[in-house]
Amino acid sequence: MSAQPILELKDVHASYGNIKALKGISLKVYPGEIVAIIGANGAGKSTTLMTTCCVIPIDQGEIWYNGEPIHGKAAETLPPTGLCQVPEGRRIFPRLTVDENLELGAFYRKDKADVEKDRQHMFDLFPILQDRRKQHGGTLSGGEQQMLAIARALMTRPKVLLLDEPSLGLAPLIVQQIFDIIHDINEKNGTTILLVEQNANLALQAASRGYVLETGAITLEDDAKTLLDNPEIRKAYLGE
Ligand code: ATP
Repeated sequence: MSAQPILELKDVHASYGNIKALKGISLKVYPGEIVAIIGANGAGKSTTLMTTCCVIPIDQGEIWYNGEPIHGKAAETLPPTGLCQVPEGRRIFPRLTVDENLELGAFYRKDKADVEKDRQHMFDLFPILQDRRKQHGGTLSGGEQQMLAIARALMTRPKVLLLDEPSLGLAPLIVQQIFDIIHDINEKNGTTILLVEQNANLALQAASRGYVLETGAITLEDDAKTLLDNPEIRKAYLGE
């Protein structure tokens, strides 16, 4: 593992009005890792990702990406730097075609010749998107929309991909396909991944390290395998 984290949250606090959603989150992600944040409904997982990509401002603390502080920056300035989020619920553009959604992912890129190569690479990763390329995003199945959301984010050529609940609302077979692709993106493209999931079993199997989030605070961090073997985690998050 590299000595310098590519992403680091230091004592991050965030709130929605009077509701304190994050109460001092500190975490590190090293280049090439898959790191999982697990936790129950409402624990603050999505808020952690949204603060990390500056969609939600923080009240206190620091967020560092690639050796620079990024808290306080505009969210839309981050994808060109290599930090990109796939939000919960996909948020693809339903009235644009698959091709157009992918083009928007490459909006900031100046290397237009490589954009076409990357689009083809997306079709290699997600062959179903090639079949659907002229279809509007809104006509795709949930699994296809999740694939499109991930592919659109990959079109930014991220160094770090933030994935919010990629399994949400999808059939088990499709979830497995998505996680196989997440594994490939990390292993073959070398993309670092911070993954938020309610499905702790899947997340910890995919990750090398994990953090447990409870009511806005990290209560445990460890190797993913150690967390998977922890009886308390198994009872609380793996339904045993
Ligand atoms: P889920 O898995 O349900 O998405 P989560 O772990 O991602 O849960 P968050 O969505 O980050 O949790 O929510 C953290 C806390 O902030 C919860 O108490 C939630 O009710 C509250 N919260 C989230 N979004 C808002 C909002 N827009 N306005 C007010 N409170 C919010």
